[in-house]
Amino acid sequence: MSLLHSWVASANAPDHPFPLNNLPYGVFSLGDDDPRCGVAIGDMILDMRAAEEAGLLGLDSGPLFDVPFWNEVMEEGPSLWAALRAQLQAMLAKDSAAQADLQPLLVPQSAAQMHLPFLVAEYTDFYAGRHHAQNVGTMFRGPENALPPNWLHIPIGYNGRASSVVVSGTPVRRPWGQLKGPNDAAPRFAPCARFDLELEMGAIVGQPSDGPVTVDQADDMIFGYVLLNDWSARDIQAWEYQPLGPFQAKATATSISPWIVTKAALAPFRCATPPREAPLLAHLRDTGPMLYDIDLSVDLAPAGQPATTIARTNYREMYYSAAQQLAHHTTSGCPMTPGDLLGSGTISGPERHQRGSLLELSWGGKEPLTLECGATRSFLEDGDRLTLSGAAHGDGFTIGFGTCTAEILPALENPYAR
Ligand code: CA
Repeated sequence: MSLLHSWVASANAPDHPFPLNNLPYGVFSLGDDDPRCGVAIGDMILDMRAAEEAGLLGLDSGPLFDVPFWNEVMEEGPSLWAALRAQLQAMLAKDSAAQADLQPLLVPQSAAQMHLPFLVAEYTDFYAGRHHAQNVGTMFRGPENALPPNWLHIPIGYNGRASSVVVSGTPVRRPWGQLKGPNDAAPRFAPCARFDLELEMGAIVGQPSDGPVTVDQADDMIFGYVLLNDWSARDIQAWEYQPLGPFQAKATATSISPWIVTKAALAPFRCATPPREAPLLAHLRDTGPMLYDIDLSVDLAPAGQPATTIARTNYREMYYSAAQQLAHHTTSGCPMTPGDLLGSGTISGPERHQRGSLLELSWGGKEPLTLECGATRSFLEDGDRLTLSGAAHGDGFTIGFGTCTAEILPALENPYAR
């Protein structure tokens, strides 16, 4: 696989995130116009509603783009996904006869406001990063009990709130919550003082299930991937999490990047999960490479200050693939729906600079980070801007995710004060 050349000149740079090889799917608006579906190509966006209305897409199904979300495309299934991608790649390729028709339907990304690219049906977050689970378990329960006894056998997770999912750029407000008192003092209600990020990938389920599915079937059901930040209130979490797991600590917001990078675009970057430390039961066993080699990074910029890269890691550090997570999700018979979002779990590597949360980077606040501007951080401060980035690097081309960013707003006044 090498760079595919487009008549959109900006798409042909080897380090551009959105070449013809990528073609990620988003939803955008210009000014006061209604949001609509678009496809990123170089620095531009192809207006899919306009392309469909002009009869340029050549699909049997439709209309698919009279709505501002990609769920209807997902519901059509893998053969439509492949046909749409092939048609877009042909029309946007260098020397395509479609250039004259499509050129007027391109808008600059710099002028566009991005929206959630799909209706989030439901949201589940897993805890499937080996190094993250080891680090957090060590801090919460000691090194002997770091990994729960089930961890090497099932991808554990919890049902989150679809309503909490917001698109990159949406500010995130520091939450209030109930916090454990010092020593054995009574709990208190206060703004979160240990607000954190979690660097994750989000897998988007594009097909429904009715009953248990295999890992291979699960992989076929996945439509694409986004960057995901599972904002986490560590002090709320520490008080509430036993025995039922996260609840309010994870309910404030979950940010995702605005462009869905399709499974097809990521195909050249498939890689295997790490060696199994205990054999998996047959229904969860790996059947082929289903992780992806995607470089990930986290930047933190205090208000008015330049950003510092605080973490660099890779999606291939995960112990379980999204396909294994999805297969496990269905074992109970739980029906899955197009638009379901699965968070991978925090992606940390074995080295300190590869840790995907401040909880790990500052080791629970004991080892604060020093940023390039001189400020120190154990957890996020008001006014901080946090940015996740991700890209798969091929030979002469890049499959980029863009960024997933948000600014931290101060907590409200006590919402219960008279
Ligand atoms: Ca998480």
